[in-house]
Amino acid sequence: MPKGDTKKDIFDVAVIGAGPAGMMAACTAARNGLRVVLIEKNKQLGKKLLLTGNGRCNLTNAEFNLRELVKNYNNGEFLFHAFSVFGPKEAINFFEKLGLKTKVETGRRVFPKSDDAEEVLDTLKKYLADNKVHIIYDSEVVDVSFKGNKINKLLLKSGEIKAKKYILCTGGKSYSLTGSDGFGYKLAEKTGHTIIKPKPALAPITVKEGWIKNLQGISLKDVKVTVFQNNLPTQAGKKQLQEEGEILFTHFGISGPAALNISGKVGNLLEKGEVKICFDLFPLLNQEQLLKGIEDMLKKYANKTIKNILSAFMPERLAEVLLDITGLDKNKIANNMSKIEKGIIIKTLKNIELTPEDISGFEQAIVTRGGISLKEIDHKTMKSKIIDNLFFAGEIIDVDGKTGGFNLQMCWSTGYLAGRSAAT
Ligand SMILES: Cc1cc2nc3c(=O)[nH]c(=O)nc-3n(C[C@H](O)[C@H](O)[C@H](O)COP(=O)(O)OP(=O)(O)OC[C@H]3O[C@@H](n4cnc5c(N)ncnc54)[C@H](O)[C@@H]3O)c2cc1C
Repeated sequence: MPKGDTKKDIFDVAVIGAGPAGMMAACTAARNGLRVVLIEKNKQLGKKLLLTGNGRCNLTNAEFNLRELVKNYNNGEFLFHAFSVFGPKEAINFFEKLGLKTKVETGRRVFPKSDDAEEVLDTLKKYLADNKVHIIYDSEVVDVSFKGNKINKLLLKSGEIKAKKYILCTGGKSYSLTGSDGFGYKLAEKTGHTIIKPKPALAPITVKEGWIKNLQGISLKDVKVTVFQNNLPTQAGKKQLQEEGEILFTHFGISGPAALNISGKVGNLLEKGEVKICFDLFPLLNQEQLLKGIEDMLKKYANKTIKNILSAFMPERLAEVLLDITGLDKNKIANNMSKIEKGIIIKTLKNIELTPEDISGFEQAIVTRGGISLKEIDHKTMKSKIIDNLFFAGEIIDVDGKTGGFNLQMCWSTGYLAGRSAAT
């Protein structure tokens, strides 16, 4: 919708992109008395939000200790102030006050009681309407025009929009069919901002081992995953990261929360050389305790095969693959297992090795790592340090979180802070 140059058509704030961050920024600025326009290139708001949490929307994480909270992000320290202004507690209160009931599940993950992402979106839509945010659908911002250190207008596919202040919330590059195709980076670059190279994060990992496809569909809870960089000179330097949680085997590699959480770092390490991922299937037991458990089983079922015994406490397909890795005879009778053979089994259960080859691309990545350099954003206001009337919020900035509601929380927090700052 084209806009003229009359004073009436100059909004106080123009928010670009109606994802979680943009909607929160627009509501907050409008709540503070400003005349706000929210510009979205899709015909609907929050297309990606509807996909979150498999349609259930893991909307935040009830980690209320902010020092702990920031540890769940890449560059999390930057968010500390935003969290202290509008953290998980405030986000939960915000939605509850608007009538959306929430519940907390394992890992402190917060969901709407209805298990329906649509309810989260409807709540935000109503709040936008109540605060009289003017929404322009089906309108892509294709360029910005600026004079000195101020943006003076946005160019849309058809027409233009003028505002006193602008908040850029166009998201990252993942799941581009939802609208976040990375074009926002170009807009930011045009205004002089540096973009830290965007990479897929929270993405499934492809591995070299062919046997992985025999495990497709198996998921294992409470596995310890350790990542090593193989080409570092010292043993101590090799261990890069550790994560515990659920792993899901796919036909080409691994997915599931623990795999997704290490993927960003694995991607970075792969650029430097070979990487190994090791799984401990029994992290709560040390080698002796596990040996004792296995020996008890072997005694109890002395006439059964080792494959049958292992299959009693793990999926049969996994037991078969593990025994293939050890090179032992799967049909060996428990009674005949030597001490060395038992030792080999224990070692494998505590240390299955995988060789990552690649991280899936943006089409499968839940979020983007990289984005607008944090050095150029004031963490107390989300304001650009380069352009006087520009603010940022959401995934477009160089912060990304683990699975568990952390990414949406980052959007609520930075969106709120940007909207509030634009009003001062
Ligand atoms: C499958 C999936 C599941 C997820 N599940 C969870 C979860 O359960 N919990 C969690 O915390 N996080 C989850 N995430 C991550 C979370 O959805 C994102 O981090 C979040 O949506 C980012 O919000 P945003 O507002 O920054 O960007 P987006 O949600 O990407 O929104 C950006 C908006 O800007 C619009 N836009 C882009 N360019 C332009 C332009 N030039 N002009 C106008 N409009 C433009 C886009 O159309 C889009 O609507 C999930 C992500 C995916 C892909």
